[in-house]
Amino acid sequence: MKALIIGSGVTGPVTALALRKAGIESEVFEAYQTSPDDVGGWLMIAPNGVNALGVVGLAEPVRGIGRPNRRMVMTDGRGKRFAAIDELDDNNPSQLVLRPDLYRVLAGRAAAAGIKIHHGRRLVDATETADGVTAHFADGSSVTGDILIGADGVHSAVRKLIDPNAPAPRYTGLLGFGGQVPGNDLGLGRDEFYFAQGKRGFLGYSLTEDGDTGWFTNVPSAEPIAGPEARRIGAAEWLRRMRELYGDDHPAREILAAATPDTMLVLGAMHIMPSAPRWHTDRMVIVGDAAHVPSNSTGQGASMSIESAVELARCLRDLPVPQAFAVFEKLRRPRVEKVAEYGERNNQDKVNGRISQAVTSVLAPVAMKLFMKPEKMFGWLHRYEIDWDAEVIA
Ligand SMILES: Cc1cc2nc3c(=O)[nH]c(=O)nc-3n(C[C@H](O)[C@H](O)[C@H](O)COP(=O)(O)OP(=O)(O)OC[C@H]3O[C@@H](n4cnc5c(N)ncnc54)[C@H](O)[C@@H]3O)c2cc1C
Repeated sequence: MKALIIGSGVTGPVTALALRKAGIESEVFEAYQTSPDDVGGWLMIAPNGVNALGVVGLAEPVRGIGRPNRRMVMTDGRGKRFAAIDELDDNNPSQLVLRPDLYRVLAGRAAAAGIKIHHGRRLVDATETADGVTAHFADGSSVTGDILIGADGVHSAVRKLIDPNAPAPRYTGLLGFGGQVPGNDLGLGRDEFYFAQGKRGFLGYSLTEDGDTGWFTNVPSAEPIAGPEARRIGAAEWLRRMRELYGDDHPAREILAAATPDTMLVLGAMHIMPSAPRWHTDRMVIVGDAAHVPSNSTGQGASMSIESAVELARCLRDLPVPQAFAVFEKLRRPRVEKVAEYGERNNQDKVNGRISQAVTSVLAPVAMKLFMKPEKMFGWLHRYEIDWDAEVIA
């Protein structure tokens, strides 16, 4: 069997390597000429994502480019720590990675394993027959395989080919920004990640590998301004708006005062998507963000994608298509939908935040002691492991 994988972001190379382990050959087709250049910034791989990477021998390479995160610290708009959540398993902490580094390592490992990654091949259409599927690309070329796997992200073309009526991703009303300022004037601890809940929004910040202060935040915008358009507006203008919005909060005020446009990342509109109603046809399937995009507040987008990639390969190893696709969906849908609900609840807490902001800093330490036990909150999520050797039964 030969699989055509569309997209070489996070999910594509992991799927290719998992298929290789399952004894299935694949080729990857990526729209960009090089790794996507408009999606920099930090990304947190949760412990369950690291576990899934381990199945295909990618946990160590990712730890090699990652910085372990052992504690989430919550601060209020005056910089006061009001809660801290430790990782459940000190031996398998989350890994904070730079997205370009992650892409490089995943694609590099796939290429080193002999998997072909074709760049500059944007899928525009696909035709499916009883025996196979042909992918058509924007450059006029086409290629035929036995199955086609859409790992082409939140704005997936494959999702629309499978189901032209699939709901579009929902714009969150927020634009994403990040950056790095020199030094560690705030005295941030190693292996800690900070969230400051200010008057009008939050700021995430952390010490970088170079000893600088990395940060990210959102700007509300009624218009879903995409990355390229947001960059045309210019980092200087966004910085001005962020200083205006968050200038009353500590440490946002200090961090944004030190930030310069040339060290900023302008990511643009952020989307979420309830898991797509249809994941597959007889020969085509979607995986990763193409199928499910939980809210950013879960920190699970990449980890869910990696888990799904490994599970899809396990199903294809043990079952014929299209049964393998149906069982894959059955295995994965409950978990990704539970994670999406968990994200919705987090977001709702933030929306209801007016009151909670005022009381959170007082109540959180008590709540943490009484009922917000990390094991109960994340045990089901972070300790999840895929049993690769277990046979998938229809
Ligand atoms: C600002 C931001 C911060 C985030 N932070 C985190 C985090 O901390 N932790 C976390 O777990 N997740 C995070 N996420 C989510 C995470 O980035 C995604 O869940 C993850 O990248 C999904 O991987 P993917 O490979 O499915 O999609 P992508 O990484 O988007 O890759 C899709 C690939 O497909 C290619 N492609 C698209 N269309 C076509 C086509 N027609 N033909 C060929 N190729 C195509 C694209 O160029 C791209 O390379 C964040 C997302 C954003 C936007």
